[in-house]
Amino acid sequence: MSKNAIITGGSRGIGKAMALKLGELGYNVAINYRSDSSKEKTEEIIEEIKTKYGVEGIAIQADVSKFEDCKKLVETVVDTFGDKIDALVNNAGITNNCNFIDLQPEDYERVINTNLVSMMHMCHLTLPYMVDRETAIVCTASVGGMTGVINQADYCAAKTGVIGLVRALALEFAGRKVRVNAIAPGMIMTDMLRGVNQDELNALAATIPIGRIGDVSDIAGALEYILQAPYLTGQVISPNGGFVLQ
Ligand code: NDP
Repeated sequence: MSKNAIITGGSRGIGKAMALKLGELGYNVAINYRSDSSKEKTEEIIEEIKTKYGVEGIAIQADVSKFEDCKKLVETVVDTFGDKIDALVNNAGITNNCNFIDLQPEDYERVINTNLVSMMHMCHLTLPYMVDRETAIVCTASVGGMTGVINQADYCAAKTGVIGLVRALALEFAGRKVRVNAIAPGMIMTDMLRGVNQDELNALAATIPIGRIGDVSDIAGALEYILQAPYLTGQVISPNGGFVLQ
């Protein structure tokens, strides 16, 4: 029987690598993106998944920080793939990188809504199609949600919230056969990191025990492990090169 997956923020970076992994694992994949500028590249990922892995795919534009957009997103997936969702990967995220005094309320609200509230919307709307069937939710957190990062108070608050959400839902839904886990990446080379000061980034990279910035494939590998680990729930898997041990 075919398996169906939704991934939010799958147009590029970590989400793209995880979307391709879902296809490789045999899931039909609904890839969500937000920006008009990401439409074409998301459709290219869908074509790649269909051609390489022989599964179905659909690209769906939605701003997952908004409940109504999430509702339309899930409705479109159910209309396209049917009313069984086997995997939900909540991955969409943004950051501000701003000191807390200058950070404006609308900016931190956007970060909380995009990184945390979106995941609550998506879990809330998708769980009815997941319960009682050996399914999995995976949420992208961050080492920032485990430690704390200067100039990222809003981001860290959101990502710590993601870990709390994952633990609580894992407990609530373990008896209904839905596993819920988080991946907390360390520093991974994507547009999110390309935007920060490269000298600071290189200095930070030098402190990573494994000696390199992570690759998106490191996170896709963690997703593969979680999806195939039937005894794993409520956990935070953190591919970070030993970073949080420092
Ligand atoms: P990118 O900036 O490369 O990609 C972000 C993705 O999120 C894009 O697909 C973007 O869509 C999507 N997105 C952003 N806002 C929304 C929204 N409101 N609705 C729907 N989609 C949205 O980031 P990364 O790949 O680096 O990050 C992916 C996840 O990993 C995030 O949750 C991030 O916090 C987390 N993470 C990343 C780390 C890193 O070092 N890179 C470290 C730790 C965690 P679009 O293309 O349409 O804009």
